[in-house]
Amino acid sequence: MSEQNLCDLNEIKLLLARHGFRFSKNLGQNFLCDRTVPQQIADNAGITAEHGVLEIGPGIGALSAQLCLRAKKVAAIELDQRLAPILQETMADYDNFHLIHGNVLKLDLAQICKEEFGDMPVIACANLPYYITTPAIEALLECACFSAIVVMVQKEAAERICASAGQDAYCAFSVQTAYHAQTEIILEVPRSCFVPSPNVDSAVLRLTPWDRYTCRFSKKSVYRVIRAAFNNRRKTLANGLSIEYQNRISKGTAAELLRSLGLPEDIRGERLSVDQFCQLAESLDRCFASSGGATEPTH
Ligand code: SAM
Repeated sequence: MSEQNLCDLNEIKLLLARHGFRFSKNLGQNFLCDRTVPQQIADNAGITAEHGVLEIGPGIGALSAQLCLRAKKVAAIELDQRLAPILQETMADYDNFHLIHGNVLKLDLAQICKEEFGDMPVIACANLPYYITTPAIEALLECACFSAIVVMVQKEAAERICASAGQDAYCAFSVQTAYHAQTEIILEVPRSCFVPSPNVDSAVLRLTPWDRYTCRFSKKSVYRVIRAAFNNRRKTLANGLSIEYQNRISKGTAAELLRSLGLPEDIRGERLSVDQFCQLAESLDRCFASSGGATEPTH
């Protein structure tokens, strides 16, 4: 089946009917039916003939085919075993495609990348099932195997992930993602490009992991400060820190620490950039160490 036909609504219906396949809402199955979209995603992913691509949720292969046309190898993780015989048919022309059956949240992605791609640079690319947006992105970032992560998610989720300090959409996950990677929205995709059509629009995110940036700061410490800020969003950050760290730091000491970093003592956590969260976490660790308290262990 040609890659154009994989996005043709009538061809998709015929293919699925032939295999007796019905969409599963629980598995977030909304397949692309506008052929310009997988082309644009693949074009913007920075894939060369030297790259390996790890895809999540190939569905019937609309995006997979475009990835196979550009990459050295594509390994795709699909949870729904009913799609295996369909993919065997639709991807028959691509000998650089390998299907892995499994749940992306339960597999060892680093091990898969090693086995599938060896020394190739690897890009993660997916039209993600929306019900696993946050844990799937976390798993891809934590795996630390990818030169880029290009994923389609619900538009509002993309806006939250890319939001900056002070914006309404800025949340703990915006900072956590920014701790790992540079974030940008590269494409907006209307709901009409999917079958069945979801009741939300989508956007494609590109996450480019930082090279060495995060090594300087303990993830555990930074994530704890993020928690202090966003679990107590209505309170000042000094207050939030004294709640999160209970009797290890008073509100007064927290306010002093913020002043020493050039921040107003009544600032709210949602105003801090990821850099400022990192600096604050480092200062807190130093403060605990010098006061004889147990320091936050680094990861
Ligand atoms: N890539 C196809 C496309 O763009 O047309 C399909 C994308 S569809 C939004 C999401 C795909 O992810 C479905 O094929 C679904 O079966 C699969 N999926 C759902 N949960 C999964 C999981 N936990 N691990 C791996 N694949 C999953």
